[in-house]
Amino acid sequence: MSAIDDLPPLRQVIADHGLSARKSLGQNFLLDLNLTAKIARQAGDLSECDVLEIGPGPGGLTRGLLSEGARKVLAIEKDTRCIPALSEIAVAYPGRLEVINGDALEIDPLSHLTPPIRIAANLPYNVGTELLVRWLTPKEWPPFWQSLTLMFQREVAERIVAQPGSKAYGRLAILAQWRAEAKIVLSLPPGAFTPPPKVNSAVVHLKSLEKPRFEAEAATLSRVVAAAFNQRRKMLRASLKGVAPDIEDRLLAAGIKPTERAEQVSLEEFCALARQVDAI
Ligand code: SAM
Repeated sequence: MSAIDDLPPLRQVIADHGLSARKSLGQNFLLDLNLTAKIARQAGDLSECDVLEIGPGPGGLTRGLLSEGARKVLAIEKDTRCIPALSEIAVAYPGRLEVINGDALEIDPLSHLTPPIRIAANLPYNVGTELLVRWLTPKEWPPFWQSLTLMFQREVAERIVAQPGSKAYGRLAILAQWRAEAKIVLSLPPGAFTPPPKVNSAVVHLKSLEKPRFEAEAATLSRVVAAAFNQRRKMLRASLKGVAPDIEDRLLAAGIKPTERAEQVSLEEFCALARQVDAI
């Protein structure tokens, strides 16, 4: 029995189901259920919400989310070996856990969920970043989710909350802060995971805003900032040459000096530029 529910401790679950961690799937498991419950609490009041969890693994965070009262958890896990362990959790929480065995990058979870929906995950960072960008850039806003509570490498978490003028400032900061309120809510050392990763980790909480802070088309803003920060040491008139042939005029119309570098340009200015790029 564990501290938060009547299921076996995670070390035993891992031994019983032969869940040796696989590097290829980015498997660094959280085995301390008090810690996973603490992470679940960062997602806010879950009692009226469905929670989408990506990459549950042996189910540490899943159990945290359920013991903290989530109305329902939909868990998408790529590793087939984890499914029997997750099925045991589903039995302990009748009708509250649905597990899908598959790749979260390919599955549309919406038909399995009822709003309001929150998202929580401890994912390999490359999959996490790709999903984060997708969740932040739908054409219409507000999105299907109310909040995202996501574990990242500390360095990636810092990129999400970074401000202009800092080395960490870039595409992730702009896309996250444009449509959400983003903050780092927990820091975790490598020793919190089994096996321990090489770097520190952090949990980021993003709350979706009713509407974006400034008007812009998501696809255009995304394209403009990707080009601007791809060559972040270059002046914008050079790095953005491929975005529009008359980019200098469009930069000036947006109130940005063509000799400026991406790092110095605010979110508001990038949105103004995206609108100018879309202007006929
Ligand atoms: N949530 C568990 C925990 O905190 O202990 C496991 C975290 S481990 C860092 C990442 C998990 O994501 C693994 O279980 C891995 O199999 C799963 N995973 C990796 N890529 C995935 C993908 N594309 N779709 C769904 N799950 C994935």
